[in-house]
Amino acid sequence: MNRLILFGPPGSGKGTEAGMLIKDFDIPQISTGDIFRKNISEGTELGIKAKEYMNRGDLVPDDVVTELVVDRLAEDDAKEGYILDGYPRTINQAESLNGILADLSEQLDHVIYLRCDRELLLQRLTSRRICEKCGKVYNTITMPMKQEGLCDICGGTVSQRKDDSYETAVKRLEVYEKQTMPLIEFYKKEGLLLEVDGSGTAEVVHDRIKPLLI
Ligand code: AMP
Repeated sequence: MNRLILFGPPGSGKGTEAGMLIKDFDIPQISTGDIFRKNISEGTELGIKAKEYMNRGDLVPDDVVTELVVDRLAEDDAKEGYILDGYPRTINQAESLNGILADLSEQLDHVIYLRCDRELLLQRLTSRRICEKCGKVYNTITMPMKQEGLCDICGGTVSQRKDDSYETAVKRLEVYEKQTMPLIEFYKKEGLLLEVDGSGTAEVVHDRIKPLLI
């Protein structure tokens, strides 16, 4: 298992599960959302381009995302494999990824699809909180911080992502249904899709995924 996509709607746990799987398999997690957020906080040109789309719950244009992924997959730590988290999100991106992989003579091993009900997704998204300093993810219902607003690990400020507000979360789910869901059929046809129940705790979902990859 070297090259994996973690696929699913916003709030399905892609980032959390990817964070657990990279420890099992010793390969990097490549999250386009994290890369955009880092660029926004550093005020780079890429961050400026991405910010307005992200804040209103839209997808960043395909050409911007694909350029970023081409560069990231060419880095040394991605030579032996990686977990893509949040990419691809459109058919156009999936076709670009196939082109990038062909150029590198690489192949995907699996696409893990984390299936979740809309109600659970909205609940997870709106109760998610993130440490601004170390990135630790909390949930006000299932995994609250010990002291409100402060990270248990590093003491940094814990806040809500702008796009996790109720209105923007609803918009992101709509965008997912229209633009990203068609990838389920795309990867089914390629024989790569492994469907996993994404409900339950991070550990429970991890225990469902891991045996499929060994
Ligand atoms: P995420 O952290 O994966 O939830 O992504 C947060 C936001 O970043 C998304 O709502 C999009 O605005 C943007 N984004 C992340 N990945 C992509 C992608 N592959 N294509 C387009 N936009 C993306």
